[in-house]
Amino acid sequence: MAGGRSAAARAPTRGATPAARAPQTLERLRALHPDAHCELVHRDAFELLVATVLSAQSTDTMVNAVTPALFARYPDAATLARADVAEVERALARLGMFRQKARNVVGLARGLVERHGGEVPRTLAALIELPGVGRKTANVVLGVAFAAPEGVVVDTHVLRLAQRLGWTRQRDPEGVERALCRLLPRETWDVASHTLIFHGRRLCTAVKPACAACPLSDGACPSAFRAELVGRKPPRARAR
Ligand code: SF4
Repeated sequence: MAGGRSAAARAPTRGATPAARAPQTLERLRALHPDAHCELVHRDAFELLVATVLSAQSTDTMVNAVTPALFARYPDAATLARADVAEVERALARLGMFRQKARNVVGLARGLVERHGGEVPRTLAALIELPGVGRKTANVVLGVAFAAPEGVVVDTHVLRLAQRLGWTRQRDPEGVERALCRLLPRETWDVASHTLIFHGRRLCTAVKPACAACPLSDGACPSAFRAELVGRKPPRARAR
């Protein structure tokens, strides 16, 4: 736990709605996960951008297992833009959807070279124009590499936590992002997503969340001890 935060930040604020308490609840989560950070290993904005594109439907651990060899062979946008896609496929073969991902990252590198001189642009509008880059990837790069996020990164953990914590009833990522941007101070947007992802991976898991071990079960979290069906995709109906 971080020792520098005030007791007031750690105590639940009674009387306000969970959404109104979101900044204080985030402070408590930051105290619980003071080391929350982007877990994709990277040395610069280019590597982070490529790693984030590769992380779709793959764990950060799997992405971190393939990127050292990939970036040793293709250290920048110029070399990756000239790559043989079949060779890139071989480098990514341990990832799901590796063929599509190989095409995506080579196309992305070509976009960086053709439109931005091989550099990673620093605005959301320019990033989401690049092949394979959506709001989530763009905000990861803007927040982590440039400390200038234009929104909150909403992945599956952030989506689930925002609903369980009673911060929003929105169910789609863009609606959740808008809600979080309204509720949380801008200077916390980047750390908020890392903190929620850490909490979602370590305690507030999709299945069997560890409410008994979670400090927010003291009244701060409206879903405590009944969370398993909150913020999860509904089970698919069986075909008859
Ligand atoms: S009390 Fe339970 S549902 Fe609420 S944040 Fe903690 S682990 Fe998640």
